[in-house]
Amino acid sequence: MSERSEYLKARARQDGKRAKESVNYSKGSPAAHCGVCKHFTPPNACEKVEGHIVPSYWCRLFEKSRLISGALTRRR
Ligand code: SF4
Repeated sequence: MSERSEYLKARARQDGKRAKESVNYSKGSPAAHCGVCKHFTPPNACEKVEGHIVPSYWCRLFEKSRLISGALTRRR
């Protein structure tokens, strides 16, 4: 792991963010993925998990965004 990568991880932990490995960050499903999570910060960040976040991925801290849920409800 590079010094920069170590630095970014240490900084993220100071911000109170979790390591990806500790929250089972992995491929998401159509219904549950970062792009529809309330913690997602577009385009590629998360307020809870460190590092580059891919919108189609997921972790066990997932909470569906109420805004997104409302938008989906209105489309039906
Ligand atoms: S699913 Fe996890 S990694 Fe993705 S935005 Fe939500 S809290 Fe962050």
